[in-house]
Amino acid sequence: MHDRRMLTQERVERALRERIRPAVVISSVPLEITVNHLPGEPIPALEAIAGEFVPARAGDRWGPPWGTSWFHVTGRVPAEWSGGRVAFRADLGFSGGPGFQAEGLVYRPDGVPVKGIEPDNTELLIAERAAGGEVVDYYLEAAANPPVIEQAFRPTDLGDVRTAPRDPLYVLTALELIHIDETVRALGHDVDVLLGLARALPENSARGGEILHVLARMLDDLDTGEVADGAARARETLKPLLAAPADHGAHRVSAVGHAHIDSAWLWPIRETVRKCARTFANVTSLAEQYPELRFACSQAQQYAWIRDAHPDLFARIRAAVTAGTFVPVGGMWVESDTNMPGGEALARQFVQGQRFFRQEFGITCREVWLPDSFGFTAALPQIATLAGMNWFLTQKLAYNETNRFPHNTFWWEGIDGTRIFSHYPPVENYNAELVPADLAFAAERFTETGAAGRSLVAFGHGDGGGGPTGEMLERARRQADLAGSPEVAVQTPAEFFTAAQAEYPDAPVWVGELYLESHRGTYTSQALMKQGNRRSEHLLREVELWAATAARRGLADYPYEELERLWRTVLLHQFHDILPGSSIAWVHREARETYRRVIAELEVLRDAAQRALAGTGDRELTFNATPHPWAGVPALGAAETGDDGAPVTVTREPDRIVLDNGLVRVGIDGRGLVRSVRDLTADREIVPAGTAANLLQLHPDRPNTFDAWNVDEFYRNRVEDLTTVESLNVEGTVVRVRRSFGSSSAVQTITLAPGSRTVEFGVEVDWRERDRFLKVAVPIDVHTDRATAEIQYGHLTRPTHANTTWDAARFEVCAHRFVHVGEPGYGAAVVNDSTYGHDVTRTLHPGGGTYSTVRLSLLRAPRYPDPDTDQGAHGFRYGLVCGADLGAAVRAGYRMNLPRRTLSGGGPVEPEVVVDDPAVVVEAVKLADDRSGDLIVRLYESRGARARATVSVRTPGPAVETDLLEEPRPDGRSFGAGGPIVLELRPFEIVTLRFASGGQSE
Ligand SMILES: [Zn+2]
Repeated sequence: MHDRRMLTQERVERALRERIRPAVVISSVPLEITVNHLPGEPIPALEAIAGEFVPARAGDRWGPPWGTSWFHVTGRVPAEWSGGRVAFRADLGFSGGPGFQAEGLVYRPDGVPVKGIEPDNTELLIAERAAGGEVVDYYLEAAANPPVIEQAFRPTDLGDVRTAPRDPLYVLTALELIHIDETVRALGHDVDVLLGLARALPENSARGGEILHVLARMLDDLDTGEVADGAARARETLKPLLAAPADHGAHRVSAVGHAHIDSAWLWPIRETVRKCARTFANVTSLAEQYPELRFACSQAQQYAWIRDAHPDLFARIRAAVTAGTFVPVGGMWVESDTNMPGGEALARQFVQGQRFFRQEFGITCREVWLPDSFGFTAALPQIATLAGMNWFLTQKLAYNETNRFPHNTFWWEGIDGTRIFSHYPPVENYNAELVPADLAFAAERFTETGAAGRSLVAFGHGDGGGGPTGEMLERARRQADLAGSPEVAVQTPAEFFTAAQAEYPDAPVWVGELYLESHRGTYTSQALMKQGNRRSEHLLREVELWAATAARRGLADYPYEELERLWRTVLLHQFHDILPGSSIAWVHREARETYRRVIAELEVLRDAAQRALAGTGDRELTFNATPHPWAGVPALGAAETGDDGAPVTVTREPDRIVLDNGLVRVGIDGRGLVRSVRDLTADREIVPAGTAANLLQLHPDRPNTFDAWNVDEFYRNRVEDLTTVESLNVEGTVVRVRRSFGSSSAVQTITLAPGSRTVEFGVEVDWRERDRFLKVAVPIDVHTDRATAEIQYGHLTRPTHANTTWDAARFEVCAHRFVHVGEPGYGAAVVNDSTYGHDVTRTLHPGGGTYSTVRLSLLRAPRYPDPDTDQGAHGFRYGLVCGADLGAAVRAGYRMNLPRRTLSGGGPVEPEVVVDDPAVVVEAVKLADDRSGDLIVRLYESRGARARATVSVRTPGPAVETDLLEEPRPDGRSFGAGGPIVLELRPFEIVTLRFASGGQSE
């Protein structure tokens, strides 16, 4: 027999596209249209509805980029459609996929939103059985969101309302009523699934051949007349094909409805609020027609926006949550980046998220839901577990450029040994549409076959929102138990994880970070996001510490409301396109303003608390917010300013300037290059001969795609050392060097403080480059095969070589406040005040062996999606800590980020909490979120070793160990009132202690 499969496939596809789908609409009638064009910022519905409307019609142009047009549509259902299925259909001038262009939200005349309108989702059902003459009266809020995504990584001015053109972008295509033929629509779904399945099956599969043979017979009959007349008969012909049950051992798919909504990205935050309204309205409306829908919805922030902006819609969400169709997941405030947020901030993502879901819905989430974040810190398993999570999900590992991640279902083990059951869906797409090809791909890619047999598929339009559609649910119904297809069950993530874990309890273990082999530029792009985040996090620590200390002494009220609001703002900005710097110009412009405001407000709160603690008097007091004593000032307290140590001398020698504080001697040559750093205590030179520390280096940086996200490894092929000096001055104990390069300039400072083994560097850059990468190199004369980087509540090590493809792919990595390199007995650390991107390499030493070079990534200049990324003034501080073990590195990292402050006052401020083991670090001191007045102290073991610490509280009440949500852990420790607490900690263990307010002093 001749093979006619391809011919049949093409025949069926054309019939579906040109005959069956067009026959779904029996007839249509245009509606009366008027419009209120609002080219500026959005306004509330009732305000817009009360505005001036003018006549409009299909074919009109509307919508300058980012503008809004409110269309008012009125009409009546034609009498002859009585009893039929009738819908309102809108086409705003769609071309392309949903979420990245014009979008609409239909409102009732009383201002209550009903349903979103997007490409692939253009209808609002008026009635299953319409009454002729029924009045139709709706408003459609149409958003002229420009197609930034279509720019294909070319610079665009569409990304900010201030630079975008003002001409209308869209042409109104249709606002009409349609009369729908349900049987033809159902036939379309049947054919869609069967044709898709035939295509997805292997070429010579018997099942595929059978499907095509029957589809051809069905078309032979349908071709003889009108589709509408033959549709019922055609469905009968296809029925046996759809009734054939799934094969034994078929892969099982848990299909989870979803809409990945980036909290800001190629649109500003204000548009995300509207995207959520459209998507959530879509979902509640869809669940009425498809009660089997399970819609997993993360990000408490997005619910909070809808609660505040659309109470009616929020009430519908609440009802859907109760009904089980709308499923809060993730337990985080937003789907944050996890590389850069500090430990406490990452903990608060869960605290704020879980608390919101509990308060609003009585639900505690059990699955971390981060399909799209750019790699995952090895601190996450412990943090998530302490926040009540049992499971972890991500889809992003599909972006790995070098190595395929070896597991789909696995236990993920963090730095402290906590393991969390994890899933990386083999469908490799969190915007799946449940077409047979998606499912076949998932089954084919699933790495655990044999040992396990199920995977999760998140379906629904996402990134820009939209969510699941009726078509997708029709596919799920038809593929629930279908020969040749994986079995599809619409389920919640918790249902999937429960079954997956039961089926595969001995899943393989992945230890350490889930490094993403892509998007490495996000540790550096948009430097002011990184600085705003780092400063905010440390100020939040200070405000909580000093305010709790003052409140426990009755000296001031604790600023609960301010702290909650400011935390939530900082957490929102850790969203995986804001802190990473991958959003449009508008988002980053607003974020810079927000960080300025947040920092100013936190400084006021910190100052007020310190003032209350200092009391009145004229003694000079130094406040130390770091977790270690500092020059006579206790950790977490204040004392009279003491003497730091021997003064620094500056000597001008013929060919160099020398800074010396008796501990460290720094030699700087005539070009301002640090040629020598001698550790006088260890009697050891740190800068390898022939190299220079604090060396600025400039690379070209033109990634192949995803400019703001990616730095491709070939950037390293060319480098320019910035050694030309314009001026070199000594001001006191500060050496100041001015350089120019390209269109930019930099002023570097080098200084030593009395009593410190840290050489402090600063650089002010006027950055005017494009597509370039600025780094600063600190070569360190130690021979080692690994570098240690601080992460949340601890650190991890990474190799400095490229032996394997996994090592080679980590050519740019994230570190928090320090990177440490060392040999047994001697090491050094590079600390920073706001840098996250680093690379650490090894170089052959002229005298034998190798030395290590730590480089900080200071600035990039990608041009998409923000064409002016990082142009302008920047300042960075960093330091080289001589003779540092890990303990010294931890301490120096805190000091770099929490400078001491002096105030005049009455006398010392005794710390509220004292810990006697420097390895056990206090990360947070605060009052309990439940406003009981209880004191919360969170600490962790910082060196990766066992520790025994005595924790003393100034006024000890009884204490219990809690989870991150400040609730007693079922297996937690408890301590009676009165005495100090002796804590045994395992390596990197995080412990939260809650001290009852009963012990509070008067
Ligand atoms: Zn995303």
